[in-house]
Amino acid sequence: MLRFTALDLATNRKPEMANIPDKKISDYFGELTFNDTAQREYLTKDAYDQVVNAIERGDRISRVVADQIASSMKSWATNKGATHYTHWFHPLTGATAEKHDAFINPLAGGRAIEGFRGNELMQQEPDASSFPSGGIRNTFEARGYTAWDPTSPAFILDKTLCIPTIFVSYTGEALDFKTPLLKVLNSIDKAAVEVCRYFNEDVKKVNATLGWEQEYFLLDKALYNARPDILLTRRTVFGHASAKDQQLSDHYFGTIPTRVMEFMKEFEYECHKLGIPIKTRHNEVAPSQFECAPVFEEANLAVDHNQLLMHIIKRIASKHNFYALLHEKPYAGVNGSGKHNNWSLSTDTGINLLSPGKDTLSNLRFLTFLVNILKAVHDYSDLIRASIASAGNDHRLGANEAPPAIISVFIGTELTRALRELENQGTNKIEDGKGMDINVPKIPEILLDNTDRNRTSPFAFTGNKFEFRAVGSSSTCSKAMTPLNLVVANQLKLFKKEVDALIENGSSKDDAILQVLRQYARESKNILFEGNSYSDDWVKEAESRGLNNIKSTPQALSIAMTPEIIDLYEREGILTKRELIARHDIKLKKYTMQIQIESRVIGDLATNHIIPVAIKYQTVLMDNVKGLKEVLDNKTFVKLSKNQLQSIKDISEHISEIRENTIKMIEERKLANKIEDAEEQAIYYNEKVYPFFDVIRYHVDKLELMVDDNLWPLPKYREMLFIR
Ligand code: ADP
Ligand code: MG
Repeated sequence: MLRFTALDLATNRKPEMANIPDKKISDYFGELTFNDTAQREYLTKDAYDQVVNAIERGDRISRVVADQIASSMKSWATNKGATHYTHWFHPLTGATAEKHDAFINPLAGGRAIEGFRGNELMQQEPDASSFPSGGIRNTFEARGYTAWDPTSPAFILDKTLCIPTIFVSYTGEALDFKTPLLKVLNSIDKAAVEVCRYFNEDVKKVNATLGWEQEYFLLDKALYNARPDILLTRRTVFGHASAKDQQLSDHYFGTIPTRVMEFMKEFEYECHKLGIPIKTRHNEVAPSQFECAPVFEEANLAVDHNQLLMHIIKRIASKHNFYALLHEKPYAGVNGSGKHNNWSLSTDTGINLLSPGKDTLSNLRFLTFLVNILKAVHDYSDLIRASIASAGNDHRLGANEAPPAIISVFIGTELTRALRELENQGTNKIEDGKGMDINVPKIPEILLDNTDRNRTSPFAFTGNKFEFRAVGSSSTCSKAMTPLNLVVANQLKLFKKEVDALIENGSSKDDAILQVLRQYARESKNILFEGNSYSDDWVKEAESRGLNNIKSTPQALSIAMTPEIIDLYEREGILTKRELIARHDIKLKKYTMQIQIESRVIGDLATNHIIPVAIKYQTVLMDNVKGLKEVLDNKTFVKLSKNQLQSIKDISEHISEIRENTIKMIEERKLANKIEDAEEQAIYYNEKVYPFFDVIRYHVDKLELMVDDNLWPLPKYREMLFIR
């Protein structure tokens, strides 16, 4: 039987030794990227300067120089063994896309030479008609083009030079995740620089920084192949809890199993060569769950690096006979996986704007950014909630190990006190430049020690950055980063306007800043929560505060499509109404499709895997009862067959429940599939089809406990969760 063959393979695996050289990490870090060092070596001075200006100031690169850059990149890449190149982009599927071309130019006489021209570097026209566009680009006008993003270094993967690009339609609409992200990062740069100038005249650029933490599960490949549900949906739709899973907390931060360690070494080696600064690795809470985290980077680069890492993790896992599960909730009843997005803002003068300072001026600057962020998250909490919505994350948000679907912010006791102090201050006039006379609440340095941590908050301040913890493990970070940076950029602009107006009316600068901050602190107070966000009390309290608790993806997506939010995107020039509607449509359809696939898998497995073996086992029991009746006297038979008969009855009941509910689910699915409106359809799937999943699962999982282990067709949780 497949299950036992798979178990046999998984149990007898020998660790695959990591294929890595005996060198220091610094010897090979970034060697497969066309990074600053490679650029200095391969580019002419002029070309190098143009690339640097493009990165730092967004300047355009001239065609002539583009030819030089392309030719140098080709030399660098072919010296490293590359034979092909591709534009590497992030279409709205959420994955990455590439289409490879060889560096080849045929010559007369049947020979060829390697070539790569400027226009091939700068722009490509992939026939991308099959990527989702939400109706923006019809199949008959398939043209879309990719354009080079010089801020993210090109890299070599599988002998292919990969050039990070944006992906837009011929009519200019964004068809990817990178385009709006780059625009937002530009907005927040401009907005934050303006506000920084109240404190430091010499700040010219502010970068959003991102350090993600990637959680994932590893599953032996043979067991993966024996579970059609994981194969098709990335999660188990059935499976009774293992008697022991994470109760003893004996996996978290424990010794990493040898097989896994060898995988990690090789996977990190591949990441390091590609310049992904992976630093941390450890066991996570659930058995066979792990985490890795890099040193933070500029947000666009960090997003690319996470996309790349998700690709590499799967590839190297496969080499080590694992399947890397990035799904938010592959197993019911044990922790799911998230991707904490640690986020901050840092200036070109080396200041982390979320680091509390040692003097009054830097404390005021810190409070300014902190309070503006609170206000932004408060005012646009629905958009923040929508940014993390997905079918996979629905299983996680609100479950007992993950933040609830209620957006709240944790800032710790010291900062809460500082904000209260700020709010309660009088409106005494304060003179500029009086140093300590400015009544800025004191923020003790203790904060930097990170002692005050709350691991239940979806959005927590952690000493010098915010940690957005509700992001799902399989999501691209740009889905969370684009709205977050957008609402903060918008807020900083509003702040600047209000402060300037007060100054114009005669207030001193510091006084004006404090006055506006005081008002914001008051207005955004109800988003702050210091307690246990996993508790039922919080759900009640949040409701009384009027905070939204949006549990499902279709609802979360729809509630964030208000005229105000559309206006915000348009005003900042990030996405047009048409683009937003298209994206909304794509997300809803993706949700619908995922639930539809899961529903079909549940129906198939229940009907042709589970019910037949349950019947088989039931027949064994019935034969047994018949046999007992033949050999026993009636009185003994009645006594001894009682339990057997009960089991036969129980099995029948479970089978009939599974059958009936599967039929009802399929009927609902048929009705759902007739609905044309994407939003209505997604909501129908969520409200009418999805609820059957748990009902059917309940009965299947009961059968798993009753049916002879030798007959059970699917690998069980206890077999999948522990790596041998
Ligand atoms: P945790 O305690 O939550 O596991 P760490 O304190 O180890 O996390 O840091 C988690 C992540 O936060 C790392 O990726 C780190 O690089 C990142 N990080 C640290 N400082 C910043 C910053 N200023 N901006 C963005 N990310 C940061
Ligand atoms: Mg963390």
